[in-house]
Amino acid sequence: MAKSTRMTFCSFCGKAQNEVRKMIAGPAGVHICDSCVSVCKTIIDRELSGAAAEDASGGGKDKGGDKGRFNLYKPAEITAKLDEHIISQDYAKRALAVAVYNHYKRLRSEDRVEAAAGFQDVDSKFADVQIEKSNILLLGPTGSGKTLLARSLAKLLDVPFAIADATTLTEAGYVGEDVENIVLRLLQSADYDVAKAECGIIYVDEIDKIGRKTDNVSITRDVSGEGVQQALLKILEGTVCNVPPQGGRKHPNQEYIQLDTTNILFICGGAFVGLDKIVQSRTGSKAMGFDTRHNVRQDEVPLSQLLRETQPEDLVHFGMIPEFIGRLPMVAVLDELSRSDLEHILQNTKNSLLKQYGKLFSMEGVNLHFTKDAVAAIAEKAIELKTGARALRSIMERIMLDVMYELPQADNVEEVVINRAVVEGRGQPKLKQAAPKKATKKAASKSADKDESADAA
Ligand code: ADP
Repeated sequence: MAKSTRMTFCSFCGKAQNEVRKMIAGPAGVHICDSCVSVCKTIIDRELSGAAAEDASGGGKDKGGDKGRFNLYKPAEITAKLDEHIISQDYAKRALAVAVYNHYKRLRSEDRVEAAAGFQDVDSKFADVQIEKSNILLLGPTGSGKTLLARSLAKLLDVPFAIADATTLTEAGYVGEDVENIVLRLLQSADYDVAKAECGIIYVDEIDKIGRKTDNVSITRDVSGEGVQQALLKILEGTVCNVPPQGGRKHPNQEYIQLDTTNILFICGGAFVGLDKIVQSRTGSKAMGFDTRHNVRQDEVPLSQLLRETQPEDLVHFGMIPEFIGRLPMVAVLDELSRSDLEHILQNTKNSLLKQYGKLFSMEGVNLHFTKDAVAAIAEKAIELKTGARALRSIMERIMLDVMYELPQADNVEEVVINRAVVEGRGQPKLKQAAPKKATKKAASKSADKDESADAA
């Protein structure tokens, strides 16, 4: 008898047999795939351990079981820690530090974090006052450190963190990613610990790309822009999300994990190209009409200074819906990185690129030296590329490729020197040989002298 070739589908996530590793059949045509089995196991484990914790604590009613535990820092401590990894952007660091600190206070007042967190008990006259969440909007050119700030912050605080790209999102029902998937990513980063995820941080990148295309409020629906803002608005405001543990599109038979987004801190970032013109035309017309004392030509005002004057109405003009802007009350502007900032980034952050390459070379027993000129040339190249510090890595990769290829085979190399000519593609890295082992001290110093004069030449 011929074997049936009918494809089977998982009754939980809807995936076909050829999309999964294992499909288990149940009675009456019901099937479950291996990944749904593991999600079910996670859910059961979590619920059982939550119940066990509740039993152990005498059945106390604490939503989410375990209370979130964080590294608590004061704002100045937060900026000091951020300084180790992020150059410049002082204003954004301050804004984030204060927002995060207040976020903790808010969680503390709602009894979401341990009493030992260091805050005083609230005066009874404020007992009924609800502190609103203050999500943050980061405005700044590409490669200026928006994502890095958000990521470093989450790492520092040891809270779950997820990054989402707003351009991949669509409102429910359209082809693309559902907004709930952002929350799923956070849940995954918290190892499916709902209580922990509910106090996490979500960074939504490219938020400017979901602006309405025109300033006119349209009666027809705008799938890519306004609809996504509406969908995001809900999770920004705080809602109970039904998160599909498998990700992907929602499926009627799927089991959902419920997650409340009220206490999730949202940081949205975007370059907002063209916003400066909007701010300029508003402030510019003001200067002409009311403030004739200022003779500064508007086109001389640096971009970031102009953006600091951003008002909610400018963002609405740009295409963001007012309710959405209303949910991002803290706006922090990042500066365009200067040449000297880029030089600092290359050399001085905790994991700077030069230190990273230095470490790789030291594993070969070789000292890697970049001349001052080389560092300046790399920064200049990055500025030409107009992608901020993002360009540094690819410039470095290109410069270092050949020497990293050859070095493991090269004999007796003590030092590699990179100068401006190498960065500009006019020369090769200089490989300095170590003095022969059996040579006398005198001979070794002679050879070093020779090398140095060659270097100077
Ligand atoms: P964006 O502003 O586009 O989100 P990112 O934060 O993703 O930029 O930055 C890209 C890369 O550039 C980061 O991984 C980081 O290595 C580097 N970088 C950007 N800005 C800074 C900064 N201010 N200090 C240190 N490194 C930076």
